[in-house]
Amino acid sequence: MKLISPAKEATLSIIVPVYNEVQMLPTFHHQVMCTIATLTNETIELIYVNDGSKDSSWLCMQSLPCSLPHCRVRCLNLSRNFGKEAAMTAGLDYSTGQAIIFLDADLQDPPELIPQMLNKWREGFDVVNMKRSDRAGESAFKKFSAFCYYRLLTKLSDVELQQDVGDFRLLSRRVVDAIKKLPERNRYMKGILSWPGFIQTTLTFERPARVAGETKWSFLQLVGLGLSGITSFSVKPLRLATWAGGIISTVAFFYALFIVFKTLIVGESVAGYPTMMLVILTLGGLQLLAIGIVGEYIARIFTESKGRPIYIVMDNEMRAAQENDVRELHHG
Ligand code: UDP
Ligand code: MG
Repeated sequence: MKLISPAKEATLSIIVPVYNEVQMLPTFHHQVMCTIATLTNETIELIYVNDGSKDSSWLCMQSLPCSLPHCRVRCLNLSRNFGKEAAMTAGLDYSTGQAIIFLDADLQDPPELIPQMLNKWREGFDVVNMKRSDRAGESAFKKFSAFCYYRLLTKLSDVELQQDVGDFRLLSRRVVDAIKKLPERNRYMKGILSWPGFIQTTLTFERPARVAGETKWSFLQLVGLGLSGITSFSVKPLRLATWAGGIISTVAFFYALFIVFKTLIVGESVAGYPTMMLVILTLGGLQLLAIGIVGEYIARIFTESKGRPIYIVMDNEMRAAQENDVRELHHG
């Protein structure tokens, strides 16, 4: 049986961002290894990116068994929590595979689907999107807001984004190379992964509930991610502010003319307090909203202009099966 050497390129890289998943890692690893064991014709690299976990995920991932001859495990340790998007970027940068797949460590992206995704890639597709047909274990509110958000984003965005497709997907090397050329610090991965285009296909799957642990996203973080998605991939909110300003100014101009003539003809007693308050409050609100939108874009320019690295790798460990592991595997 041939051993995959550390220097050799793999056919498939599986990238797993990990943040406080010590409960999940052993089960996850076991399941992935079961799938990898069936793919003996491929050389596979499993990349765990520890995104500054506060628990012992880093120690745990280093001790995970790696005895399949056609598989090696790489563990990257980021210097702090940079966020899932940065962890995925780190995984991409360190991957050598001709195809890459992102997997969540909580088994919400079923590893059993990997062979199917690989088949699609072999058929010649560059991107295999995995569309969620069901979101088990998520609240009705999260399902509804995700539904609305994806539709809003598709309407606003200049890039074609797939609806209900998360980060779970396969990308070919040429797509990965295109993505690696994107220098932006605001990593809205769903947008970035869709940006290069190429030949795409979509498979549907039922997204199971998280097996253990809990989601790392709070409501406010999700709102932040949502805003970042819109502002990173669309300038339409700015256009909207311009339009709103234009329409309101036009209406205001005619209303002003009306008031002037009315005053000249019938005079004016000082009434109209409610109208005045309404106009002041509406305009005040709209102005603040428009400034807020402009501010969001300036904030993006600000972070981009600093040009800081997206992540910092503190440790980089690589393990492959040894001769005696393989012998044990054959005798045991
Ligand atoms: N994750 C990460 N860094 C973070 C938050 C999450 O690497 O700051 C990882 C997490 O360990 C998991 C994946 O991203 O493997 C998805 O996270 P989660 O399940 O919390 O997201 P959800 O499925 O609820 O969208
Ligand atoms: Mg999850």
